Amino acid sequence: MVSILILATTNKNKVKEFQEMLKDFPIEIRSLADFGPLPEAIEDGETFEENAYKKAIHTARILGFPAIADDSGLVVEALDGAPGVYSARYAGDKATDKENVAKLLQEMKRVDNRKAAFRCVLSIAVPSGPALTYEGSCDGVILEEQRGESGFGYDPVFYFDDLGKTFAECTMEEKNKVSHRGKALAELKAEFPQVLKWLDQRLAEVKPPKPDHSEFEHNDWSK
Ligand code: IMP
Repeated sequence: MVSILILATTNKNKVKEFQEMLKDFPIEIRSLADFGPLPEAIEDGETFEENAYKKAIHTARILGFPAIADDSGLVVEALDGAPGVYSARYAGDKATDKENVAKLLQEMKRVDNRKAAFRCVLSIAVPSGPALTYEGSCDGVILEEQRGESGFGYDPVFYFDDLGKTFAECTMEEKNKVSHRGKALAELKAEFPQVLKWLDQRLAEVKPPKPDHSEFEHNDWSK
């Protein structure tokens, strides 16, 4: 039976969130913080799916355990999907949230179509290559100015109509119920018994590892 799943992050909030969510399942969640320093995955994919998979397979191969990784960001319709996979570094490599939001507001000046969505993709990979993918998205509009103090990233300019406020004006509980991450995690939790079976089957297969440049694979329950 699969007993350990590595969460490919050192972010304490994400680790807590996963451990809490999967606490009733017979599996131990460890994070990168439980291991020594590891080389970082290169996130040079063009999609959230590719980057989530790159992070998951990188970790699974180095540590020899199945690993789960997430990738998320903001997709703005009028900007042809930008900032997308570049959300964290929209205003430059070491940009702060404040700088990224300022750049977004600048790019959206005098733009009428304010439609946007947050997207989150989770990838669970085994060291031999195959992976499962879960995703969640959340539609909203980009305001012309910031509102609210909580959250992070683009939350102060992301207005969510159903709640009538920006994500930065929501409590964490309110946001988690409707957010891209919340939805992806809920979907994963609902299917987790099957995920455990899938992991058992994959880990029982004796396959030579694929080369590191192997392509990202979609969920494929038939394997
Ligand atoms: P990550 O993949 O979770 O590290 O997210 C990448 C970037 O997307 C973050 O640095 C934020 O700029 C943006 N982002 C992702 N999720 C959210 C969110 O829930 N609120 C605001 N910004 C987000």
